[in-house]
Amino acid sequence: MNEFDTKHIWHPYSPTPQENIVVDRGQGSLIFTRDGRTIIDGVSSWWVNIHGHCNEKISAAIAEQAKVLEHVIFAGFTHQPAIDLSEKLLQILPGKMSKIFFSDDGSTSVEAALKMAIQYFQNNGQVDKKRIIAIDGAYHGDTFGAMSVGQRSAFTKPFNTYLFDVEFIKFPHESSEQETLQQFEEIVKNGDVAAFIYEPLLQGVAGMRTYSVEVLSKLMGISNSAGVLNIADEVMTGFGRTGRNFASDYLPTAPDIICLSKGITGGYLPLGVTACNSLVSNQFEGSDAARMFFHGHSYTANPLACAAANASLEILLSESCQFLIKNIAEQHANFAKSLDDHPAVNKINQIGTILSIEIKTGNESTYFDNIRHNIYSYFLSKNILLRPLGNILYILPPYVITNSELSCIYNSILEFLNEYKNKNI
Ligand code: PLP
Repeated sequence: MNEFDTKHIWHPYSPTPQENIVVDRGQGSLIFTRDGRTIIDGVSSWWVNIHGHCNEKISAAIAEQAKVLEHVIFAGFTHQPAIDLSEKLLQILPGKMSKIFFSDDGSTSVEAALKMAIQYFQNNGQVDKKRIIAIDGAYHGDTFGAMSVGQRSAFTKPFNTYLFDVEFIKFPHESSEQETLQQFEEIVKNGDVAAFIYEPLLQGVAGMRTYSVEVLSKLMGISNSAGVLNIADEVMTGFGRTGRNFASDYLPTAPDIICLSKGITGGYLPLGVTACNSLVSNQFEGSDAARMFFHGHSYTANPLACAAANASLEILLSESCQFLIKNIAEQHANFAKSLDDHPAVNKINQIGTILSIEIKTGNESTYFDNIRHNIYSYFLSKNILLRPLGNILYILPPYVITNSELSCIYNSILEFLNEYKNKNI
């Protein structure tokens, strides 16, 4: 591959120019590169690839669908893959969801959720309910609405003046849950809050940091009593990641709106879903055109993406896949225990198939900690793909990862931590 072939491609979250590794093939947890390397994908290719690369069933489902209908306008027309997918999702989503709205990715599923919540209050005449609450450290995507409800940071700095105002509550650390609850109560008291958006139980981009079922369920309770809509952003936590189908399944009450993407198609094709309950959807019913939901994309409910999602869901719900998820969670837990007193480790977090290790640097944890470059290169040199969030090293593997591939990652992490402790890195 010469320089001319790649220099016109602008890669996301990458300095430009940058050398990029050319990948020819993927199989299971493995990525095969043009220069002859076999790399273990320890992050499921940006958290999407739940059943591994080139899964036979999903590939076949897309191929079959491509023979009969690749795409059709989704206004005034519908199709079987979307009908099947919405029925399956309604069966497994927490609570009693009533409608499935399709879009393109995680960010657009959040945009649709925010617009749905805002228009809900316009449609029901509560026009003063406008404010949105989010949690410090939140990440909900890169489009403007999604950025607005996310943490202001170096990522958003060039755009901050264009983002709408949001009330941020403090992250509910174990030691400060009460403070967060009081702050939340104070904000909703005014009666002008429309929605509370959160990543349930785990903030991904903020460093895979977890918070308790108890505090989230109290926050949701306060917001329910104040007539505020709860929006669960399950873009990264959905489809088995946390050990249950959805992180919201750990909670006693269901959200009003749920955002989904990433694992939904098994990492094959982009697809976003915003699901809502009948409290929300009823406000959009009727023949008055002014009440219809003003949102849509050209590729809404793309049949190939829906076919991939139907196949992916079937695999996810199978006994064998549930066993794999449980197995990863157990292996992670054992490895975490073995690192308990490691001098290079500050804190370990685990929920289901996600394991994160906060490396001691002597400074506060931040995404921009330079150690991330060293960690990334260290593991890549060992043919393991891990993309640390600053000094937070995490594993988020495809469910098909084998025990020996997992052991290989654990052993390399231990080696890294030992070398780091001895300051050889
Ligand atoms: N919401 C959460 C919780 C995410 O983690 C992400 C992406 O990492 C998004 C939304 C945005 O998804 P996408 O990158 O598909 O737009």
